[in-house]
Amino acid sequence: MEGPSLLILKESLRSFKRKKIVDASGTTTKIDPTKLIGERISDFKSFGKHFLIVFKAFSLRIHFLMFGSYRINEQKDATARLHLKFEKGELNFYTCSIVRIDEDIDEVYDWSTDVMSELWNPVKARRKIRKLPDATVSDVLLDQTIFAGVGNIIKNEVLFRIRVHPETTIQALPPRKLTALINEARNYSFDFYKWKKVFQLRKHWLIYTKRKCPECKGVVTKKYTGRTLRRSFFCEHCQVLFE
Ligand SMILES: [Zn+2]
Repeated sequence: MEGPSLLILKESLRSFKRKKIVDASGTTTKIDPTKLIGERISDFKSFGKHFLIVFKAFSLRIHFLMFGSYRINEQKDATARLHLKFEKGELNFYTCSIVRIDEDIDEVYDWSTDVMSELWNPVKARRKIRKLPDATVSDVLLDQTIFAGVGNIIKNEVLFRIRVHPETTIQALPPRKLTALINEARNYSFDFYKWKKVFQLRKHWLIYTKRKCPECKGVVTKKYTGRTLRRSFFCEHCQVLFE
């Protein structure tokens, strides 16, 4: 689940804020769900791909990994990793990793690296990227210490928007393209958020999982690129490989 999806989750849980947990269970082994009974939720936050349930003295960090999911006021056929019951309603989280954080989350998380955060700092991102001359643009976009929240869909769409080949290295990338990459990582994340909210995300994909380039109508290349070896979809004709 990429950053924008977690922002949508956060918004849909608004009504559970300040509500007390009356029952809790689940298959999670890293925390004891029964210890949550009686606790009141102070807030929900997201940082990159981490979803946070904030209590007065601690927080729960939920990472949905590749196949994680959730249900609000309903259940799936599977047993939840974490089930939280309230006087009115329930939350269920599946196939995710759940960790308890006892430290102050403002100390744990640097909000300025989260592309969806109002504290997002593009100058800081640029400084970090400059220190990775040999890295490819496709790996840099997925680096959660630089672009927290960016996942593989955002990576592909950003690179198509700025017409850069995923295997271009940072040292070969012209400065104006680096600026565009940083700006679009945030812009596209907000478009993703806007489209996903109205169930129109897929419809707006230009290159991700596509066979034909929307611009030149040529064949889209699919390749596992960079060190992360995540799927890249790109047009060899429209997206420049800077060398
Ligand atoms: Zn093309």
